[in-house]
Amino acid sequence: MPDAELVLRSTRVITPGGMRAASVAVAGGTITAVLPYDAGPPAGARLEDLGDDVLLPGLVDTHVHVNDPGRTEWEGFSTATRAAAAGGITTLIDMPLNSLPPTTTVGHLRTKKQVAARRAHIDVGFWGGALPDNLADLRPLHDAGVFGFKAFLSPSGVDEFPHLGREHLARSMAEIAGFGGLLVVHAEDPHRLAAAPQRGGPKYADFLASRPHDAEATAVAHLVEQAERLHARVHVLHLSSGEALPLIAVAKARGVPVTVETCPHYLTLKAEEVPDGASEFKCCPPIREAANQDLLWQALADGTIDCVVTDHSPSTADLKTDDFATAWGGVSGLQLSLPAVWTEARTRGHDLVDVVRWMSAHTARLVGLDARKGAIEAGRDADFAVFAPDDTFTVDPAALQHRNRVTAYAGRTLHGVVRSTWLRGERILADGEFAEPRGRLLGRTDGPAPPPERPTRERQT
Ligand SMILES: [Zn+2]
Repeated sequence: MPDAELVLRSTRVITPGGMRAASVAVAGGTITAVLPYDAGPPAGARLEDLGDDVLLPGLVDTHVHVNDPGRTEWEGFSTATRAAAAGGITTLIDMPLNSLPPTTTVGHLRTKKQVAARRAHIDVGFWGGALPDNLADLRPLHDAGVFGFKAFLSPSGVDEFPHLGREHLARSMAEIAGFGGLLVVHAEDPHRLAAAPQRGGPKYADFLASRPHDAEATAVAHLVEQAERLHARVHVLHLSSGEALPLIAVAKARGVPVTVETCPHYLTLKAEEVPDGASEFKCCPPIREAANQDLLWQALADGTIDCVVTDHSPSTADLKTDDFATAWGGVSGLQLSLPAVWTEARTRGHDLVDVVRWMSAHTARLVGLDARKGAIEAGRDADFAVFAPDDTFTVDPAALQHRNRVTAYAGRTLHGVVRSTWLRGERILADGEFAEPRGRLLGRTDGPAPPPERPTRERQT
């Protein structure tokens, strides 16, 4: 019998081999075994019977802007990680902007860690930033445990995080490839953006025209070309345009080390439905047409797109003005990403195994956390979401946990309710109640989970 303090039993457990009835044994915060459904719990273990609710691995969201410290009125570690836990997310990787300072030196990383420690309800790791002038900081940041480096090819929206021109991109890419790191890129071409009509104002169609498809396709083409030339691992952030997909598919087939993510809002919201002036829908690249959305789903199905992440990027409500040109760009999606994606996925013939692959297994692998996160199997952290996939709810902004309750999903009816969320074998959220923060700060160099300790006492229930 494996060590177990706790056994979670469900008729529907999502394992790497698919969904099946199983009993999952947990000790010392780690999964020790996935047993047959009717295996009796080992002596002394507490049994948690989940009935027909689905037990899935906690989601790993590798694209979140927590903005703390410096813009904590926009978001913070406490509120962001509560929203994440409420959405079934148990690990997030924080983007290097829009906090002050941005995570572009080891000293800044230390500051971020100090702020995140003791406030995080889930596990938190950090991306570093690649700027035109911090080439010498990249290796030290890598050694200090960031999971990779974010760069922009066009203006980022904040002055303290300038974008990389082509020369700086090549230099940063070569440096990062030199130590085996990962470069993650906001890929919109600044010249194509500048050439597009910039009308401003409240009309969504004008905003959409200002961020055309070919800005993404051009930037992705350049990125892939450079990655191939420099043998560099690159990851395309928040792809919204289907126009870039064929060249990504070709590059992948040729063995170029490129991966791609998209976001719940690109997969579930449509340009045709965005009301004029409704800048809660504004993000860059933009939410595009329904026909384009079909291409993104096809690319998820065939593996051209690897993963789905939130790009949760909030601001205070006053910055979400009705002028699309000047309103803050970012959709707040942490708490709703799983039900939003699941609602659309099920109508397109996908199952929860697919959703877990895109939102947990592949994101864990992207950042090298796949020895401990992203699957329900022996040896991984006991991070779970308990999910009722057939229940529905209507999004009420008042029920959201992120700091500014601005949402593009208000009033939508979604499928799938997160009943509880578990981090290393402890329930951190149940029935809307949060436990004390017990998230850990993760580093790229932490390695796999240590072997579980033998239980020495009865666990409190
Ligand atoms: Zn982002």
